[in-house]
Amino acid sequence: MRDATLKQMRQHIIRSHIINRFSNRYTGIATMKPVYYILAMIVSVIPACKKEGNEASAAGRVPITISTPGDEAGYLYIDGRYTGVMAPGTVQLTAGNHTLGVALKNSEIYLKKAITATAQTAVSFTAADKPALKTWKALWIGLYETRGNSGTGDCSTHFSTADLDAGYQFFTWSLREHVEKYAYGTMKWEVERRDITVPVTLTKGSIGYTVEPASVAALVPQIQPGIYDCVFVFWREKEGSCNFQSNYFGLAWTNPMAEPMKTGYVTIKFNPGDDITATINQYKTNDPGVWIHEWLHTVGENYYQHQGLHLPEKAGGLAVHAAEMYGYSSPWMQWYRDFMSGRVPNASGQPAYLGIGPEGLLGCTVREMASGSCGQRGP
Ligand SMILES: [Zn+2]
Repeated sequence: MRDATLKQMRQHIIRSHIINRFSNRYTGIATMKPVYYILAMIVSVIPACKKEGNEASAAGRVPITISTPGDEAGYLYIDGRYTGVMAPGTVQLTAGNHTLGVALKNSEIYLKKAITATAQTAVSFTAADKPALKTWKALWIGLYETRGNSGTGDCSTHFSTADLDAGYQFFTWSLREHVEKYAYGTMKWEVERRDITVPVTLTKGSIGYTVEPASVAALVPQIQPGIYDCVFVFWREKEGSCNFQSNYFGLAWTNPMAEPMKTGYVTIKFNPGDDITATINQYKTNDPGVWIHEWLHTVGENYYQHQGLHLPEKAGGLAVHAAEMYGYSSPWMQWYRDFMSGRVPNASGQPAYLGIGPEGLLGCTVREMASGSCGQRGP
């Protein structure tokens, strides 16, 4: 299955369109209306355990006292799932082996320990409990010339090296400020950049003008399964009378393992206006999520679901677009954080929280899965 998804944010409205690869027609359109923001802060203090005797309670649960470096507050995960409570504190666990994790709130670092819970176990997290992070590999490609048949005939849009540098900085800024922080240090992105100097020809379909994966892969032989986790392509929408406007900002292919390149694929169709730096700064201030939004489509629609993780339900066919369904609001940054860290409250049942989570992010990356160097099951 190959779905192209596209996104446009107009104030509080997201429209999502899904293209079916076989029919190349819209198979679903969802327009989400604004909802009132629901403050979903989980800052409950763990109550002191009820004294049911100093040893294990009748249910076989034992009190575990957890401390953190400098008593910093952190979101507590047990066996990969967010608990809804904060550390430091005391929790009741079934006796036996568990993996405890704490995502430190201020320093944005995930710590984990394997423990054997017995009565009165005290667990002290230290900086040494930071697990080895996973390296994710991005290929960023700026297009110098993008060519297509617009309303006024064949034409091209162009980016200068300085323009592409600005787009690249926008991208790496988002990796550092959003993706890596929301992963609590469990992932680190290595970025390779290979701008394309020859004209890249647009494909025109019902979605509008797109830079297809095959068009890019034909020009960049380095794109092969197992090399990159995601390819990001940045191209210019509009220049003078040459206009490739379509009803989207970014596009993501949502099932990387089903693609020939077995790699996430994202394009950002950017309209720089009169001043690309000013335009990017506007996005950074008002609506900074385009890169993380599109990247999340590549792993949040099929990839982690196929590994058995519990992600949010889909809205209009897409989990990343379910923000309002779960009570989040524009510009969605808290949604992306909770989506990545497995802390989206699930009012409808079990599990209590949804999303990828630090343990999911410590698992196989897309390129590891593609190269078969990964023990977990694929799609
Ligand atoms: Zn989207």
